[in-house]
Amino acid sequence: MKGLRRFVRSDSWTNRPDRRITRQVFATGRADPLYDYKAAFQTAVEQVKGEGRYRVFADLKRVRGQFPRAVRRREDGSEQDVIVWCSNDYLGMGQHPAVIGAMRAELEAAGAGAGGTRNISGTTRSAVDLEAELAAWHRKEAALLFTSGYVANEATLTTLQRLLPGLIVFSDSLNHASMIAGIRNGGGERHIYAHNDLEHLEALLAAAPADAPKLVAFESVYSMDGDIADLGGTIALARRYDALTYLDEVHAVGLYGETGAGVAERDGVLDGIDIVECTLGKAVGVMGGYIAADAVIVDAVRSWASGFIFTTSLPPALTAGALASVRWLKAHPELRAAHQQRAATLKARFAAAGLPVMPSESHIVPVFVGDPVHTRMISDLLLEEHGVYVQPINYPTVPRGTERLRFTPSPDHDDAMMDDLVAAMDRLWTHCNVARLPAVA
Ligand code: PLP
Repeated sequence: MKGLRRFVRSDSWTNRPDRRITRQVFATGRADPLYDYKAAFQTAVEQVKGEGRYRVFADLKRVRGQFPRAVRRREDGSEQDVIVWCSNDYLGMGQHPAVIGAMRAELEAAGAGAGGTRNISGTTRSAVDLEAELAAWHRKEAALLFTSGYVANEATLTTLQRLLPGLIVFSDSLNHASMIAGIRNGGGERHIYAHNDLEHLEALLAAAPADAPKLVAFESVYSMDGDIADLGGTIALARRYDALTYLDEVHAVGLYGETGAGVAERDGVLDGIDIVECTLGKAVGVMGGYIAADAVIVDAVRSWASGFIFTTSLPPALTAGALASVRWLKAHPELRAAHQQRAATLKARFAAAGLPVMPSESHIVPVFVGDPVHTRMISDLLLEEHGVYVQPINYPTVPRGTERLRFTPSPDHDDAMMDDLVAAMDRLWTHCNVARLPAVA
């Protein structure tokens, strides 16, 4: 009773911004609204449209066993066969019989949902087994699952700042939005170093108090440009200044290294990474995210991170599917070789056709357009006239003026598909005169 009275309507309760919003929402039923909510939302959408970066999602039906083919439904309800050229299911594992079989079996055995947060009742056998498998993959003592890679980054980076008071974070300027969100939410001191610029990183590290706790946060494969960080160089610097290393291998896990543990494995520096963060939604083909690190780090994050504690855990079928996928990926380096070969072939073919393929050291094949409206238009024409599905990549995913098409060929994209794609792109660039379209106001 005492507790209840304390909670009801104190000034601090009603003055909280979220409570004020609640009262305003109730006010929308008034005949004379005090605030035009609808207009505010419409203005926000119109702004995006005016900048030519309004996003339209293709309505696609994936057909099991047919990857990368899919069936698109047009607005009029008619259907079209398309080839998906922009999936982050990089190896087609989302369609793999081993993964589907494991998911189906676990669904039958354990049911649909996890039943709660990990703390309440959501820990299932396949989640525990998956964490052990992931820890071993990255040669770490422990791993911790999250509901997505985004949540893993956001929750961990926020929590590290709570766990290490005074932590100074050094973050690569092109780090993913989820890392930026986590670093910002932590509220501590942060410094942004120029992308992949180790001289700049060193200058910032050297300027910080020597005895302050420090963390260098960076990615291995940068997914929009396709470049790869200098892991060895970054680790050496971090060691010199006694900083922890936090590496996002979201676009590398499953794809690089002898067993697919990522660029850190490929470069022989697994031990130099203190905390690795990955997704289960891209090369692994399912969904979810995780960190792997020393047991004490994982235990501390597990005990303190809101984004882990207060959310329903991944369903058992999903963790079982991810486990089957990881085991498959570990044992099949030939998939990774085929993947690299396909990416190299597409880059070479685009370049030979005179298309502005951007320099990329990885499996990502970006083609520069440099204008949001043109990028959207090319993407629409590729889809409608050629059955090629590639989403336009606009701000805020990439800086304004660097809009592009981003191709992600998989081992299943065969030569005939590439012939069709290159011919379609060549035709568009030649006949539409893309580079010289009138500038958009
Ligand atoms: N980190 C990077 C670099 C990403 O590109 C993404 C997603 O695209 C994420 C993290 C988030 O991963 P997830 O899609 O599992 O939320």
